[in-house]
Amino acid sequence: MTDTSLYFSHISDLLDFLNLPKINTSHFSNSFPFFVSRHFAGKIEKGNKEDPLLKEILPSNEESIIHPSFSKDPVGDFSSVKEPGILQKYEGRALIITHGTCSLHCRFCFRRNYIHSEKRISLDVLNHWLKKNLNIREIILSGGDPLLLEETFFEKLIQTILSHSHIQTIRLHSRIPVTLPEIFLNPEKRFFKILKQIPQKIKGVFVSHVNHPNELDSESAFIFQELHSQGFTLLNQSVLLKGVNHSSNTLAKLSEKLFHQGVLPYYLHLLDKAQGITHFEVDEHEAIQIYQALLKKLPGYLVPKLVREIPGELSKTPLGQNFSF
Ligand SMILES: *Cc1c(COP(=O)(O)O)cnc(C)c1O
Ligand code: SF4
Repeated sequence: MTDTSLYFSHISDLLDFLNLPKINTSHFSNSFPFFVSRHFAGKIEKGNKEDPLLKEILPSNEESIIHPSFSKDPVGDFSSVKEPGILQKYEGRALIITHGTCSLHCRFCFRRNYIHSEKRISLDVLNHWLKKNLNIREIILSGGDPLLLEETFFEKLIQTILSHSHIQTIRLHSRIPVTLPEIFLNPEKRFFKILKQIPQKIKGVFVSHVNHPNELDSESAFIFQELHSQGFTLLNQSVLLKGVNHSSNTLAKLSEKLFHQGVLPYYLHLLDKAQGITHFEVDEHEAIQIYQALLKKLPGYLVPKLVREIPGELSKTPLGQNFSF
């Protein structure tokens, strides 16, 4: 059930809200439906059909383009599944697909072809797997968005992980600070209290997903401030997206605004080539040019690592490191 006070799930309602003309949606596939939180939509400039945030969430006809080098599983997730919902590709850390629900459907999502299932991680399966895998030091909670889990279950999940003494770090990957701050700000919600248990016992890392400076607002600043004061390390990952942030000026502004809110840029991902998202691709040559320009604009600590995920590699692969100005 979708709470219509928090979300738009019909394109025509969003376009009305933005004072934009209706579009013909009859060719859009239903496999990854339109969905966006009202909070995120509120940051789109009214009347501007070129708004970068609008491009992140508005379906387009280009999604039906089939391209041979774009696939349903671009980063080899299927072959890294250890148990249902548990992915391990890299040494010492495992990623949990906690469930498949998001606060918005980013059109460029690399999990777009299999996300939005209701199924959530089984605590028994996780517990059992952690008991057997004593070399795992860090658990990454991803999804879907882990902060959209039902609170009681989320708390049990955190406590299950904390009960394994070999786990030294819990990392959350979430878009909530810029998409659905209500999750934190509603006085009936307990997410701050639950999260606090992490840095009280082990290391807590919070990795937000923000692609454009306009996504950051006073609500995100408040949430980051609170998480920082709880002892979380705050990082951000972005995807390099044509029409959204493919310019060194936009990326520099993003880094500066993140820093202003207490967050350091971590990764700038080249697009993972999921079927249906060719129109967001910035090719590697152009990406490196943008990156070199970014390096000249910012102090080193505000430059994210430009990376690509190559299936089968034992880490994300850095790009743009060897060049001459
Ligand atoms: C990207 C990713 C990670 C995290 O990699 P870091 O370099 O540690 O940020 C971990 N597990 C999986 C499966 C990933 O795709
Ligand atoms: S929030 Fe993340 S997982 Fe969800 S649709 Fe956006 S990119 Fe995909």
